[in-house]
Amino acid sequence: MSVDTGSRPPAAARDRRFARQERCELCGTPVAARHGHLVDTGRRGLLCACRACFLLCPAGKTRYRAVPERYLWDPRRPIARLDWRELGIPARFAFFVHCGTRVTAFQPGPAGMVETTLPPGLWAELAAAHPLLATAEPDVEAIVFRGRACGTDCFLVPVDVCYRLAGAVRRYWTGGDGGPELHERVGELFAEIEQRAQPLW
Ligand SMILES: [Zn+2]
Ligand SMILES: [Zn+2]
Repeated sequence: MSVDTGSRPPAAARDRRFARQERCELCGTPVAARHGHLVDTGRRGLLCACRACFLLCPAGKTRYRAVPERYLWDPRRPIARLDWRELGIPARFAFFVHCGTRVTAFQPGPAGMVETTLPPGLWAELAAAHPLLATAEPDVEAIVFRGRACGTDCFLVPVDVCYRLAGAVRRYWTGGDGGPELHERVGELFAEIEQRAQPLW
């Protein structure tokens, strides 16, 4: 008979759950596991938000901006392998966020996510051919790419998804290419993105 060594006594599980109870970072109200986020454009961070605070911060020119909940993909204009290479991204996946006048690429590495600013014009050129890229709201939405043997996946996602990707890279990266556990986690996250994504048109 096998013994599940991974199970913990109920009290410990309860304490752990209590310790992980998330709260709205603006008003302190406890929030459910699934909750909205706000981007703090002042210090470039993400805040957990209750529904009321989330709804009070629509996308606009305020310091706190609500992260939209849409996921999109464009079945009509897939990103070709060539376009991906033009961006100079050697990683298997990366995400891109437009802030101010710049587009920043985040790609995984042994020390976490590495930020690089794309050469001016390159993103605009690619976006002219792929409207999905131009659809992303600055600061609060991201374009995520994943290179695969059969082509390149490209999705528009809420920027908090990228924080989850970055967290997985920080936590699970091993060896030179990230290791099997990281790629499994990233695969799960992309499966979730794929399932939620609606066609752009
Ligand atoms: Zn709140
Ligand atoms: Zn949160």
